[in-house]
Amino acid sequence: MEVVDKTKIKGGPIGVLLILSTIALLLGSVFVWSYVSRSVDDQRKIEFQRVVGMTEERVQDTLHMLVERLYDLRGFVSTGGINSERWINYLTSIEVEDRYPGMYTFAYAPVVERNKLESFISKIKNEEKSKEYQEYSVFPETQTPEVVPVRYLYTSDPDIGSLLGYDITTSENQVIALKKAVADDVPAITNLLHIGLVLPGNTKTGYVIMLPVYSKIDIVNYPKEERRQYFMGLVGTWVFPQGLLSHVDIEEELMAKEVSLTVFDGEDKPISLGNNGGDLRAVREINLLDKKFRFEFIGKRQKILDQFTESLPWLTLGGLIIINLMWTATVTSILLSRREAEKLAVEATKDLRKFKQAVEGVSDMVTITDENGVITYVNGMAEKITGYKKEMMLGKTPRLWGRQMDEEFYKNFWKRIKEDKKPFWGEVINKRRNGELYEAEVNISPILDDSGKLLFFVSIERDLTKAKAIEKIKTEFISLASHQLRTPLSAMKWFGKMLISGDAGDLNPMQKEYVEKIYESNEREIRLVNSLLNVSKIESGKILVEPRLTDLTRLISSVMTDFRLEAGELGKKLTAVIDKKIPKIYIDEDQIRQVYANLISNAVRYTKKGGVISVKVYLSKNFIMTEIKDNGIGIPKREQKRVFDKFFRASNALKIETDGTGLGLFLSKTIVESSGGKMGFRSSEGKGSTFWFTLPVKTKN
Ligand code: ADP
Repeated sequence: MEVVDKTKIKGGPIGVLLILSTIALLLGSVFVWSYVSRSVDDQRKIEFQRVVGMTEERVQDTLHMLVERLYDLRGFVSTGGINSERWINYLTSIEVEDRYPGMYTFAYAPVVERNKLESFISKIKNEEKSKEYQEYSVFPETQTPEVVPVRYLYTSDPDIGSLLGYDITTSENQVIALKKAVADDVPAITNLLHIGLVLPGNTKTGYVIMLPVYSKIDIVNYPKEERRQYFMGLVGTWVFPQGLLSHVDIEEELMAKEVSLTVFDGEDKPISLGNNGGDLRAVREINLLDKKFRFEFIGKRQKILDQFTESLPWLTLGGLIIINLMWTATVTSILLSRREAEKLAVEATKDLRKFKQAVEGVSDMVTITDENGVITYVNGMAEKITGYKKEMMLGKTPRLWGRQMDEEFYKNFWKRIKEDKKPFWGEVINKRRNGELYEAEVNISPILDDSGKLLFFVSIERDLTKAKAIEKIKTEFISLASHQLRTPLSAMKWFGKMLISGDAGDLNPMQKEYVEKIYESNEREIRLVNSLLNVSKIESGKILVEPRLTDLTRLISSVMTDFRLEAGELGKKLTAVIDKKIPKIYIDEDQIRQVYANLISNAVRYTKKGGVISVKVYLSKNFIMTEIKDNGIGIPKREQKRVFDKFFRASNALKIETDGTGLGLFLSKTIVESSGGKMGFRSSEGKGSTFWFTLPVKTKN
């Protein structure tokens, strides 16, 4: 059992690692968060640009298609022979309404000489039956040699519809575009037009794109300078910025993302306003013929991406904070429990050291072995007792110094501690390294775990050599002293007897009384010395049982005679009932006589005046039972277990009878047991006692 002396488990590398990992996690979290935020930012920009790009593309497409429609329309008009019905049919057939939902306006305005204006109008009224044509007039009225009135109109806008008959030459803005268109045979666009100028109160603004119409269908095959002579009018379309976006999906997309669009004309005047405010901005320049429009897109950062993507950085941040908190909590608890463990370890080590010091220091030999008896620990005393060094004992079994008892002993011993798992206690003989045999008292305990499994054995061995030696000296001393005392006591006894019997002359009554007292005291002294001698004989093993065939009935009767007189004098009754069938048996007569004498004298002594003492002897199976019953003072319950101890005297007995040695019962029991019998008693304080003993029926030696 090596006590590991590591009272301080260093916080060292694991603590540092934990702290470093926490820092790394924090830095990692910051990185992840900024990465996610940045990529969401990028995605947002890309998405915004996509919306802007798509819008731009759709606007370009729309413009392009509008111009194409104008070319188609001029081809149609050039064929001649059209009326309002065919005009409408044509435009319907090219699906104008579907392609430009809510934004279409197409018109044809022929060039009419002023002097033919009347016939032009009356011709219309003849040809066209509808109400609007019956009210057809050219307006506003001017005196220019040529007018260019709107003859056909196909529009989704009722305001524009009321411009049927409008003479476009009355608008300088339109005349400039007209001239440019006719001069180069190109689609030309006007500057910003305010409808309010023609229709008071109307706030609409927009542009007209116009394209000259010639009486030749294949006009493109003619050189440009020749085309003028075939010029017959203009086809035109009305353009306003919102209209350019009226492709349903585009508007919806813009609205969904809350992207507002402001369109500025060539002079940077806003012509359509829809600014909702926002922090994303993109500008696109879109050419509409020779006119430059600026489209300004403003978007709101949070509206571009879907809710989930937008909240991704915050979700990430929340997640990272939770992970960080959890990690911090884990690290803290690890560090705390490490500290706790360190504390416990320090305490445990201290305890263990104290324990080890204590075990090392005890005056008994302590051995710990595994379940097979292999030694795992021995204390310092083991070296002193056995003479072997610790290193020699560890890994070996206690046979090293044992093996002096017979085989049977060790078999029983192992069965008890290993199989029955019970502690063993006993005296054994062992052998020191120097070959000397020694007696030892051994106490071996099997140590079990909670489930009853055998873990190891702890053995405590006490070397009895010294104790036995002291005991021997003591016994020898008592024996010697008793012998020395007995001689003068015997002398005193005989001289006393002679004085009393008058061998040395008559004594006067007072002298006689004094000598008798001396004689009695001397008798007591002799009894004590005899008892002491017997005890010392027993302890030195010198008590010898010398069995002789004995008539027990006679023996008892003689003892009874000895005591009856004394009992009678003290006013106590002594009776005996002895079984007639009791055979002669082999016993040490002198010693058994002493047992009867002891027990009967006790019964007489510890009974008050008027007490009754009955002796009963009977044969039972293969032993003879003797019971000596009295109705005396009894023995107090709590003192009963010490009754057969050497020098025991009960507290109640001490009060009434100071004269006693406390050796009688000890001797009696020893004698009975060495004769092969047993001794016991029952007693109740104040009521009486019954001492009993058995003797084997031994009729042959
Ligand atoms: P002793 O009689 O000399 O004291 P014993 O060994 O004979 O020594 O008896 C021991 C003690 O046991 C007595 O002192 C007494 O207290 C108690 N004892 C023995 N016999 C009786 C008895 N019959 N009744 C009561 N106490 C008894």
